[in-house]
Amino acid sequence: MSEQDKWCYEVPGKLEVPYRYFAGECGSRFLTTLRDEKKILGSKCPACNKVFIPPRSNCEQCFVKIQDWVEVGPKGKVTSFCIVRYKEPYLPMEPPYVMALIRLSGADSDLTHLIGEIDPQKVKIGMEVEPVFADQPKAGILNIKYFKPVF
Ligand SMILES: [Zn+2]
Repeated sequence: MSEQDKWCYEVPGKLEVPYRYFAGECGSRFLTTLRDEKKILGSKCPACNKVFIPPRSNCEQCFVKIQDWVEVGPKGKVTSFCIVRYKEPYLPMEPPYVMALIRLSGADSDLTHLIGEIDPQKVKIGMEVEPVFADQPKAGILNIKYFKPVF
């Protein structure tokens, strides 16, 4: 321990901070279309033609404004995942469950979401999945309950 570190004392703690935020014009269109039409929209850069999901209002590579929308998916492939083994109070699944990156067809970036209807130990990278939409309107991205395997 250095002389400087000797006076550092960390207190473990946990905060729960309820909040609301404005999803912005781009995020709002994405979320309301998902909720009202059960369609997943990406935004398409006019310069490099990359399709971003979740949509962005500016291309991170070309630095141009994006105004074109395209429907992506609904099917996609798992590009990465982890098995979550603790209860997250804001997510609808009981552990263990799978949180995955999903590359929807027609998109050039990944959407993070839950995988359901499969034993977490059987999830594989490259596995084809499709969304299961919520029966009742939900807040935000949980209008997709989870993605399930396509057999
Ligand atoms: Zn671009």
